[in-house]
Amino acid sequence: MHFRTKQVHAGVAPDPTTGAILTPIHQATTFVQPSVDRYMERGFTYSRSGNPTVRAFEDKLAALEGGVDAPAFATGMAAINAVFMAFLDAGAHAIISDVAYGGTYRLSTQVYTRFGVEFSFVDTADPAAVEAAVTPVTQLILTETPANPTLKLTDIRAVSDIAQKHGIPHAVDNTFLTPYYQQALELGADMSVHSTTKYLDGHNATVGGAVVIATQDHADRVRFIQNSTGTIMSPMVAWLSLQGTKTLSVRMDQQAANAMEIAEYLEAHDKVETVAYPGLASFPQHNLAKRQASGFGAMLWFEVIGGAAAGKKLMDSLGLWALAENLGSVESLATHPVTMTHAAIPPEERARVGITDGLVRLSVGLEDSRDLIADLARALDQV
Ligand SMILES: *Cc1c(COP(=O)(O)O)cnc(C)c1O
Repeated sequence: MHFRTKQVHAGVAPDPTTGAILTPIHQATTFVQPSVDRYMERGFTYSRSGNPTVRAFEDKLAALEGGVDAPAFATGMAAINAVFMAFLDAGAHAIISDVAYGGTYRLSTQVYTRFGVEFSFVDTADPAAVEAAVTPVTQLILTETPANPTLKLTDIRAVSDIAQKHGIPHAVDNTFLTPYYQQALELGADMSVHSTTKYLDGHNATVGGAVVIATQDHADRVRFIQNSTGTIMSPMVAWLSLQGTKTLSVRMDQQAANAMEIAEYLEAHDKVETVAYPGLASFPQHNLAKRQASGFGAMLWFEVIGGAAAGKKLMDSLGLWALAENLGSVESLATHPVTMTHAAIPPEERARVGITDGLVRLSVGLEDSRDLIADLARALDQV
């Protein structure tokens, strides 16, 4: 089956007792067992360990990205935490992309360091730098591509080859492109992590996460943490995410088309200093974007002339664009990473990796691009 058919049908089937076309929201805590000897026969025992609505979403995601399993979590951070817990021992070392979601940085530096784990934040756009950072105790490589918020890309195939050579699991945070545009496992990654909060839900309706996993051995480890720590996604969130995922490709194609138009508009504007969108020929890694993904996504960033002060003025002047954290939803959002999503990263570290004070991040939604551009034009007139 092709992707668009799978996004509608994988993991779900009409309810066998009623014929209901949508998977029911199974809000039950526990599942009655036919007899002591036939415990687990129907696959479910207690909703922390597995739930039929959650399982439908997990099965759909596994099918969409070619995994053996895709445990779903309460949030994207819970999914990343499960990967850390599954693969990092006390005294271990992990390699993380130097540009990554602020929460990933915080979890690493403020939680896992307390348990004696050491982290190297490496420019994973340079595979040689990844290889150089490997130590005898490196137990995990986590890359984020495109990275939040600078959109720096990592060559998934090249880093996966290095990881495999050293026997280290490689997880890719694939939140920005989703399986629709980027098949991380096919490119060699062992795991693909998602904040389903973003494009998979797509409607600003839930927070959730998932890890699509290539091998059963790794899946068993992550499932064990999901049950042990009790961080499974809730049935209601799984149900909403299931419905959202059915329209993923249609939303992303339109949002990406809008993003391309907006990027071109900004690039031509005389008050705009820089624009970064992987679909622009001027994007430094445009060729890698074309090679490893089938679309450029709908995230972009720009800086206006006048730096941070002008950027803030612009964001405060927007009307149709909501000033908010989150991304990937049908509503267009503007974010100031330095005060919002990436505040947990120290200023010197942010400056080192290009998260400038004037950086305006746009998550392009599903509205008519003419209205989105008109609103940007009005705000640009204010600065
Ligand atoms: C939002 C985000 C996360 C964290 O997900 P939550 O659902 O907010 O916990 C992780 N990685 C990336 C790239 C994100 O954008």
